[in-house]
Amino acid sequence: MAIVIIRQDGKIDLWKEALLTEAPDLDVYSYYENHPKDDIEVALVWKHPEGSLAKYNNLELIACNGAGVDFIFEDPDVPEGIPITRVVDTKLAEDMSEHVLAVILAHLKNLDIYKLQQTQKVWKTRDYHRISDFKVGIMGLGELGSVLAKDLVRFGFEVQGWSNSPKSLENVNSFAGDDELSGFLASTEILVCLLPLTDKTTGILNKSLFKKLPKNAFVINVARGGHLVDLDLIEMLDNDHLSGAGLDVYHQEPLPTSHPFWQHEKIHMTPHYASVSDPKFVVPQIVENYRRLKAGKSLLNEVSRDKGY
Ligand code: NDP
Repeated sequence: MAIVIIRQDGKIDLWKEALLTEAPDLDVYSYYENHPKDDIEVALVWKHPEGSLAKYNNLELIACNGAGVDFIFEDPDVPEGIPITRVVDTKLAEDMSEHVLAVILAHLKNLDIYKLQQTQKVWKTRDYHRISDFKVGIMGLGELGSVLAKDLVRFGFEVQGWSNSPKSLENVNSFAGDDELSGFLASTEILVCLLPLTDKTTGILNKSLFKKLPKNAFVINVARGGHLVDLDLIEMLDNDHLSGAGLDVYHQEPLPTSHPFWQHEKIHMTPHYASVSDPKFVVPQIVENYRRLKAGKSLLNEVSRDKGY
């Protein structure tokens, strides 16, 4: 039984070394080296080249190297009928939570405006906001969203969340399903998207949704670029319905230099690095799943092919 690592970001050696340090008995190959394709039973993937998984006739597990599996379902040649697992990791959730908190606090305290003023040597005070001024609404109360919700509550924010099924988190108002989306939006002043990208959530951050938010709401998308209709966001920022947006993810990454987001004064961008799988913390669960697969046991963090997340 052997593992192949397929990714295109130059990090294969890093992951290979981490896997072999954790479990020296494993046979681990890079997709880009000569390797016995028929021996490969596990593919560890992150944004693999389309069609690459179909080359392995004896594949038994697709292990996603991150939390979001949308890129796997976008590959029309992804083998059917074998399990897909993803990363669920405390550090990944904590990192995401810290990122979103930083974006929210920067907005409350006008840090981006002051940075701009500094470059122009402008001394001008701005009214600031307090944590108690805003209700944060999180779309997606899963592994990442629920940790963020708890942290925001700890910081003193009023917090509510929206998910497929109702949740019971202390001091977090839970909304669920399409019927409760409008009510959730009507009372959300800072909206954070932490949904998986699926057929149902593609383009969900659009004009009609933004209109249901109160005037001056702030939007944070740290999930996937495909959730957002870019021009709808720009329109709602330009007509002052929304006060600003913090974006970490984009339709095309890196974002083309011609894209209007780059120049927009109300958009605060980070380059899809809110939280990243760290081999140190993630490799043990991948090895554990490899062992479980060999022993015929149920796998950790399996994705539902039906739901797409
Ligand atoms: P989970 O699968 O744990 O949680 C997803 C949540 O979204 C669940 O609460 C689920 O509801 C809810 N949901 C899914 N579909 C719908 C829908 N149609 N309507 C309402 N709610 C829905 O995912 P994670 O929290 O682990 O990750 C979320 C996403 O974050 C990832 O898919 C990835 O795209 C993104 N991400 C971004 C990173 C970055 O650096 N920017 C890093 C890591 C992840 P229910 O609980 O009822 O099933």
